[in-house]
Amino acid sequence: MRLVFLGAPGVGKGTQADRVTAQFAWPKISTGDLLRDAVRNKTVLGLQAKKCMDEGKLVPDTVVIEMVRARLADPLCQVGFILDGFPRTVSQAEELGRMFAGRGLTLDRVINFHVSREDIVKRLSGRRSCPKCQSVFHVDFAAPKVSGICDRCGELLVQRSDDKPETIAARLKVYDEQTAPLIAYYEQKHTLTNLDGSGDMEDVYGRLVQVLDRLGVK
Ligand code: AMP
Repeated sequence: MRLVFLGAPGVGKGTQADRVTAQFAWPKISTGDLLRDAVRNKTVLGLQAKKCMDEGKLVPDTVVIEMVRARLADPLCQVGFILDGFPRTVSQAEELGRMFAGRGLTLDRVINFHVSREDIVKRLSGRRSCPKCQSVFHVDFAAPKVSGICDRCGELLVQRSDDKPETIAARLKVYDEQTAPLIAYYEQKHTLTNLDGSGDMEDVYGRLVQVLDRLGVK
């Protein structure tokens, strides 16, 4: 299965992609995670991307497209994959279409997660993540056993710099202007399924599994 998880920041697509990856062993390709790795490792690309990310803006298309191209060439991706957070602009989607065509692949489905704006802001502002093992928690909805400490590896949890209130607003504006047009783009290609992303993680996963069932995934 080759899937794209689409939706505004904070709709839970990364969390759901992790669940699917754990169950079906399709790798998750998250451009946000790849960029954060580059920033952590202080690579040239990471240093270039950091400013855009901190301001809630998109990193230039050419940078993310090349990252995705390299990742798709990984033999592990031959069984299928989930693209999380890519494409985010129409031109990224067009380039993805060309990459697939060049490899004789088809995109099976784009799952568009929807959550109210109010819930998105609550989810993003309470999100805390582990800088070491990348586990994600929420101060109210998925609190760690010991406040501020990662359940998995004991590291101190941090708030992502782009989850601060002013950056959340900027990211949502960027989503409305540059990413939301992808809904119509994929609707026209008859590859879009809308998914209600509200409620807790288990409810959303249950709905997602129903969609995957309908696509014939066993
Ligand atoms: P995410 O973790 O998906 O919310 O991504 C965090 C940040 O990484 C975004 O706010 C952007 O600055 C950058 N980013 C991630 N994916 C992309 C993409 N496909 N195109 C451009 N920038 C991206």
